[in-house]
Amino acid sequence: AMVAARASEETRKAQQVDVAVVGAGFAGLYLLHRLRRAGLTTVALEEADDVGGTWYWNRYPGARCDIQTIDYSYTFDPDLETAWTWSEKYATQPEILRYLGFVADRYDLRRDIRFKTKVMEAKWDEATERWQLTTSNGPAVSCRHYIMATGCLSAPKPPEIDGVKDFEGEVYFTGRWPHEGVDLAGKRVAVIGTGSSGIQSIPMIAEQAAHLTVFQRTPNFALPAHNGPAPADRLGLLQGDRAAYREQARWSMAGVPYPQQTSVSWQLSEAERRERFDKAWAAGDLVHILSQLWADQGVDLDGNRLVADLIREKIREVVKDPEIAAALTPHDHPFGAKRPCLDTNYYATYNRPNVTLVNLRQEPIKAITANGITTDKRSFEVDVIVFATGFDAMTGAIRAVHPITGRGGKSLSDVWADGPQTYLGLTVAGFPNFFMITGPGSPSVLSNMAVSIEQHVDWVVERLAALRDAGFTTIEATETAQAGWGQHMADCSMLTLHRLANTWYTGANVPGKVQGLMPYTGGVGPYRSICDEIVARGMLGFELT
Ligand code: FAD
Repeated sequence: AMVAARASEETRKAQQVDVAVVGAGFAGLYLLHRLRRAGLTTVALEEADDVGGTWYWNRYPGARCDIQTIDYSYTFDPDLETAWTWSEKYATQPEILRYLGFVADRYDLRRDIRFKTKVMEAKWDEATERWQLTTSNGPAVSCRHYIMATGCLSAPKPPEIDGVKDFEGEVYFTGRWPHEGVDLAGKRVAVIGTGSSGIQSIPMIAEQAAHLTVFQRTPNFALPAHNGPAPADRLGLLQGDRAAYREQARWSMAGVPYPQQTSVSWQLSEAERRERFDKAWAAGDLVHILSQLWADQGVDLDGNRLVADLIREKIREVVKDPEIAAALTPHDHPFGAKRPCLDTNYYATYNRPNVTLVNLRQEPIKAITANGITTDKRSFEVDVIVFATGFDAMTGAIRAVHPITGRGGKSLSDVWADGPQTYLGLTVAGFPNFFMITGPGSPSVLSNMAVSIEQHVDWVVERLAALRDAGFTTIEATETAQAGWGQHMADCSMLTLHRLANTWYTGANVPGKVQGLMPYTGGVGPYRSICDEIVARGMLGFELT
């Protein structure tokens, strides 16, 4: 009785809203705006002290988007589009953060955001048909619907190396970079990790530091950004017919308006292939090179090897020392199966006299000591260690809210014990009125996320409004629909080369994490039509009460 009394006391004191949103990044901000317009009361809970999500946390030198900024933007309001002009083809983190702040102000979103507030636990209450959220700060929240807009790349992966605590120098994580910046001038710096954040920051750090030592476990394919003003041809297409350009992006494979490539590699002569490749290389565009060369590059190993070999040739051309070039050249995964990176002077940085590459495949790190890093073969004295070791992607931030308790007292971590199970990457059977924006099982990180986020938010908010208007209070995926989606995910993944690489897409970067390809590989446009069809067929796979 006492427990029940305490529980009802907590409910009484809780903030009551129709919909609670966790996260105030790209997704959370747009959700707030749409939910309000749909006449639903709402609050967003955000751990940080301001908006921005990814662009709030990742302040490391060189942080930028790697989808062209004209494409990596909100498209829901044409007036917003013309009210903001990007200064570069690939905007820097400060500029993207300013943009998200601009959006928050323009739609007066901050008044419904509780900053410095972490959601700790979430529990579905069957009697009231409401979610109860426990927070780190301020009152609990009672809501009809619980939406996690917590980000695919927002939970940094803890370092796996012994001795970090013993190190007496400075330690930084790219995903939690200090707001006031870091002065690296004259210092001996180590960077651990050569994923996107490492590849973006290494050239900038090399320019500042007295000496930079890069510790690389797996080499990555990196392509030149050729940053500068937005390219005239792309900008021309956008400005020529903005609505058509945006619509093409929504129905494209990756959320960027490129046509589907139809010719396959063996239909092209070697000269034609090289011409296409050189054009793509010069374009400085990830999606271009991933999708516009030949149709078999992402689905067939032979077609893929042709691209990969051309990129390997470029690495050898740039890096002067053949041994270093070899160490930087990826051979263990098909091009595109692991997230390729976009860089500015990355490979050329290894020609600098103040940069050393340590190949951890040949000499693994043994320990971090008081004054540096020791491998099997050598010791490196450093003043600063930068961890660019990435994220517990896709599920990290969702699982960090623990427990999330659904119907019948079942927790999400139990349901996901063998990996994430979802319907459409949007919701989970047994968890009524629960949604994830760009959750595992949706195109998410295999797309321009601005487009995927808008699609998810639009779909969810329109469904919630329709549900309310029809007098329903709960929506829940059926087990059958969820199993079917799992099968469809698996079928699609057999068609691509993603299954042939151990990556953060598959959970391989986090020790002990269940392995399996988490994003949906069927493409953004096809995914959108599936979501639309589910609505057209009377919410196929959902149970409404
Ligand atoms: P986030 O921006 O990650 O926001 C989630 C928010 O939720 C965070 O602010 C976090 O603090 C908060 N949160 C999480 N858990 C809790 C909790 N329990 N309680 C309270 N708050 C919580 N994508 C692209 O499409 N193109 C790019 O070029 C691109 N570049 C990127 C570069 C970097 C360095 C990184 C890390 C990611 C990049 N991404 C890119 C992916 C990027 O994450 C998405 O594009 C987008 O910003 C995600 O927005 P979001 O709102 O879904 O999540």
